[in-house]
Amino acid sequence: MCKQKQELFENFFKAEKTLLKQLRLQTKAIISGDNNFGRFDCPIHEAKQQKEDAARAYNAHVCNHACGFPFNPALSNAVCAAR
Ligand SMILES: [Zn+2]
Repeated sequence: MCKQKQELFENFFKAEKTLLKQLRLQTKAIISGDNNFGRFDCPIHEAKQQKEDAARAYNAHVCNHACGFPFNPALSNAVCAAR
């Protein structure tokens, strides 16, 4: 198992968990009638960005290093084609 790939995957997994946590908090706020649920929009946006960046870094690595398969074929084709 490629160590760098493992680290990049853990990074992605962490970003995914952060995003899910923020979404869960916002859903909770909406359900509880909290009118200020928009305060989660910014953290959610940031978490999405981080997740996309982490996925891109992972895919670029597995493409270049040929040590695994990318997450999203459409994204990986873009990354591999850009080489
Ligand atoms: Zn690798």
